[in-house]
Amino acid sequence: MINLKKLMLVMALMTLANAGLAEVNIVASIPDLGVMADRVGGERIKLTVLASGREDLHGVPARPSFIPKLHKADLLLTLGLDAEHAWLPALAAEARNINIMEDREGWIEVYEGVELLDVPDVISRAEGEQHAEGNPHINIGPQNGRIMAENIAYALMDFDPEGSEYFDENLTGYCSELDALAASLKSRGSSLAGQKVISYHADISYLAKFYGMEVIGTLEPKPGIEPTARHLARLAKDAQVQGVSLVIYNQAQPSNLPKKFAQRIDAVSVKIGNMVGAISEVDTWQKLQQYNLDQLLEGAGQ
Ligand SMILES: [Zn+2]
Repeated sequence: MINLKKLMLVMALMTLANAGLAEVNIVASIPDLGVMADRVGGERIKLTVLASGREDLHGVPARPSFIPKLHKADLLLTLGLDAEHAWLPALAAEARNINIMEDREGWIEVYEGVELLDVPDVISRAEGEQHAEGNPHINIGPQNGRIMAENIAYALMDFDPEGSEYFDENLTGYCSELDALAASLKSRGSSLAGQKVISYHADISYLAKFYGMEVIGTLEPKPGIEPTARHLARLAKDAQVQGVSLVIYNQAQPSNLPKKFAQRIDAVSVKIGNMVGAISEVDTWQKLQQYNLDQLLEGAGQ
């Protein structure tokens, strides 16, 4: 005869052991999502981040070591809006893990709820468009951090409901830090409002909107399309008429062209980071936003 008490005790112990071991295998496409998942998921997740943060967001080189990591993933965190279109969906498919393939439940896009910018009237990739569904560079907009963190928390809660309270508590603490950060950035960066700027790639829309800067144009004629002499000549003329003060590029882009172009139009070139890990000191999402503001203020002579 089964000793019911003993059985219940064993079952309770097993549940406890499982609770202790409950680890969600998270793979994050870029470090921004990794640091956020770490803050929200804490000890209940096991985290792997694919990009180092130094790369171009759209062109992270696929390494063979990514495949086994993706194979074991429960959730794959992505920016979405096709930000990782050129490298991640193919890797996820190759990893033979149906749960995290694009459009499956474990493929998480953190942009949902963000007030999207640069959404085209017609979705087309005819010319190799990298921003076919709207601007995907949400991670360098200080206004978007809270939404990104919330989306990560909701994905974790869905997958691991037992950890909901824990995730929620972590999220609340993290979001209050992000809210305070946004407020302090806004006040420290208030002098940037009204500055006219040009960027290398169309990746500063959210950043510019947050500080009230006006983006006059981009060195690339279209996202992902190489600058041409003709386009640059037209842009230079426009920039001089409008009084552009800053030419903004990031660590993954060639620096010669933005520097030369800035000289040509009598502006200042400013190098920002396109994601966490852009430079080694930038190892949290908050530091990325601080770093970018420091660079902008320095460029603007403030
Ligand atoms: Zn882009």
